[in-house]
Amino acid sequence: MRVGKAIAAGILVLMVTGAVIAFGLGSIDAPARAPEPQLQPETPPDTQPSTEWEPPAPPAATERADERARMVEQQIARQRLGRQPIKDRVVLNAMRTVPRHVFVPKADRRLAYQDSPLRIGYGQTISQPYIVAMMSELLELKEDAKVLEIGTGSGYQAAVLAHLTPNVYTVEIIDPLFERAAGVLGSQDYGAVRTRHGDGYFGWAEHAPFDAIIVTCAAGHLPPPLWDQLKPGGRIVIPIGGPYEVQRLIVVTKQLDGSRRSTTVMSVRFVPMTREE
Ligand code: SAH
Repeated sequence: MRVGKAIAAGILVLMVTGAVIAFGLGSIDAPARAPEPQLQPETPPDTQPSTEWEPPAPPAATERADERARMVEQQIARQRLGRQPIKDRVVLNAMRTVPRHVFVPKADRRLAYQDSPLRIGYGQTISQPYIVAMMSELLELKEDAKVLEIGTGSGYQAAVLAHLTPNVYTVEIIDPLFERAAGVLGSQDYGAVRTRHGDGYFGWAEHAPFDAIIVTCAAGHLPPPLWDQLKPGGRIVIPIGGPYEVQRLIVVTKQLDGSRRSTTVMSVRFVPMTREE
């Protein structure tokens, strides 16, 4: 029993150390986007669009704004053990604006601004807010970028992306989740997000190529169709690893000559990518 505990504690320490080492060694470049215009001090950040085309605040953005501000301040923008603070102003603004609580099932809404993933039904989860912000920043989206998400889930990550670019495409394999996410996105004025029911392993060929691809379920390998649908100069953010392993969040970039470069960012735990039978 004691030996078991000691081993478990050892594994935990290794995991934490691994995450810290990954942070230390990972070469996360500063986001490529041009500096944001400075907000006027009297303007609350969550009502000020940061770009001309940015969608207006969704109807539910007036609800629980204080909790979102605290979430950004305490969980996302602050330096913490094993966590790099997220600095991209557009990402932080999106995190303050998107009403996470309307994307989660009613039973868990009170927990919506906690520092944790939440269940969204069908054995799936919405990621922890920090991870959503981190992955959004890692995409390094330019204002007119075309981005593909694999794993719509609740639609929350797609809504965050909708504040970074008007060209968001997202694919979900579980039909009821796809239906629900499309409904919530529409009701929150994110109708410009293009949603699709299908197996995201194959990407979305009709709209390829993409400047960036974000995969929010863990895959054993990088699906070749996603690589093929990525523009030269583009990047994929994807958790790689089996369902019972510690997975690695990696950024894969396609160089202008078509070659591949990968950087491990941190250890993560995502639900597995499933396949259509
Ligand atoms: N991004 C989501 C969270 C996703 S959880 C959010 O913001 O809420 C991972 C999602 O990936 C689940 O909804 C799961 O059904 C979906 N998924 C798993 N395998 C998939 C595949 N092959 N194609 C598309 N979606 C997939």
